[in-house]
Amino acid sequence: MREYFDVIIVGGGMVGAALAAALGKDRLQVALVEAGEAPAPVDDDRFDLRVSSLNLASQRLLESVGAWSLIPEERRCPFRHILAWDIQGQGETRFSAESIGLENFGSFVENRVIRHALWASLVEMPNVECFCEAAPIAQLSGRDRVLLELDNGRLLTGSLLVGAEGAGSRVRERAGIRVDVTDYHQRALIINVQTALPQQDVSWQRFTPEGPQAMLPLTGHHASLVWYGDPEKVRAREAMDDETLRTTIEKEFPSRLGGLERVLGRASFPIKRQHARRYTASRVVLVGDAAHVVHPLAGQGLNLGLQDVITLAERLAYAHAHNKDLGGLASIGRYALERRPQTLAMMAATETFHRVFTGGEGLRSAGSAGLALAERLPQAKQWMMRRALGI
Ligand SMILES: Cc1cc2nc3c(=O)[nH]c(=O)nc-3n(C[C@H](O)[C@H](O)[C@H](O)COP(=O)(O)OP(=O)(O)OC[C@H]3O[C@@H](n4cnc5c(N)ncnc54)[C@H](O)[C@@H]3O)c2cc1C
Repeated sequence: MREYFDVIIVGGGMVGAALAAALGKDRLQVALVEAGEAPAPVDDDRFDLRVSSLNLASQRLLESVGAWSLIPEERRCPFRHILAWDIQGQGETRFSAESIGLENFGSFVENRVIRHALWASLVEMPNVECFCEAAPIAQLSGRDRVLLELDNGRLLTGSLLVGAEGAGSRVRERAGIRVDVTDYHQRALIINVQTALPQQDVSWQRFTPEGPQAMLPLTGHHASLVWYGDPEKVRAREAMDDETLRTTIEKEFPSRLGGLERVLGRASFPIKRQHARRYTASRVVLVGDAAHVVHPLAGQGLNLGLQDVITLAERLAYAHAHNKDLGGLASIGRYALERRPQTLAMMAATETFHRVFTGGEGLRSAGSAGLALAERLPQAKQWMMRRALGI
């Protein structure tokens, strides 16, 4: 049995689900294929380890598909200030939402909460069909259709196939698109903590020669700390018992953090950069981590993926409304043309921060002077803030 769709999306993570919702809202016939189960509702008060900063553009996307209102207020932490400084530096750079006439920069939300809200928004869209616990085993791009065979025996056809299955995308591999990978030889230790101080409206990052230390606020005296470093040191910290880890953080993190009441959880992730050489192939397009993985120090990976969604959904809605081929180059080629330079700019920015602040003494002094200089250039700061917000 074959089933026909306008667009088939493989991967129901935050980016794939957001694309399904954006296209579903525009009345396209969409298939969403996800290897795992549909996300379960979040009904406990435990904070998950994976947290993302959603910028204003991402927040607006979630609002437009009806997912934002499904995120309970107690699970979103809006922040108004961002601070960055170097451990040996001459000053800090402070970004304030107020200085560009905004109430906040965006919100920190747990990934599982974002993903569940997006999937819940799909329930209202009968034109989106979800195929869970299913993965493609073969794909074939023809002249006017693409054919996808799933491991549960289903055969789907569509005008366009979207690879949204994250960094290890098989859609990308089967389409013959190669990737360039840079291993930073760093891991990020994520630690959820309960803090003595309330500091919920600020997110900060201190650069050290080993890697940045960051505080991402969560609601109610909770925070997600990110401690980048040498893989062996990170593994050793990850293996500490809660009390040893708590006192180590109090000693090694900036005093601004204040005391820690408790360590609530930890996990570590390898840090790499990855970029697909092309975002498109015949009737195939890539979005999110399937297309690009950036160093998470600027907290922009998901925001880039959701910006892909905004741009691709616009192109496809236009093609659909004008009876044009959804998988044609006019639609997906323009998407790639728009998105690639944006991603490259973000990659260059995060790469510069990483290299400067983990480089030798001279580079770090230059970086530190750069932060101090940025503090004295309000227009440059405003430009950077608008870029990071996606507005
Ligand atoms: C330490 C760390 C901190 C980060 N912090 C931030 C932050 O603050 N802000 C931010 O914007 N970004 C952040 N990021 C980046 C962000 O987490 C990713 O960019 C984002 O999760 C990518 O989403 P995705 O939907 O593209 O891919 P994924 O989240 O990888 O989702 C892929 C989905 O595809 C499914 N799948 C996989 N294979 C198949 C298959 N064969 N068939 C069907 N389905 C399949 C998976 O089950 C999954 O549901 C961070 C990343 C790291 C490592």
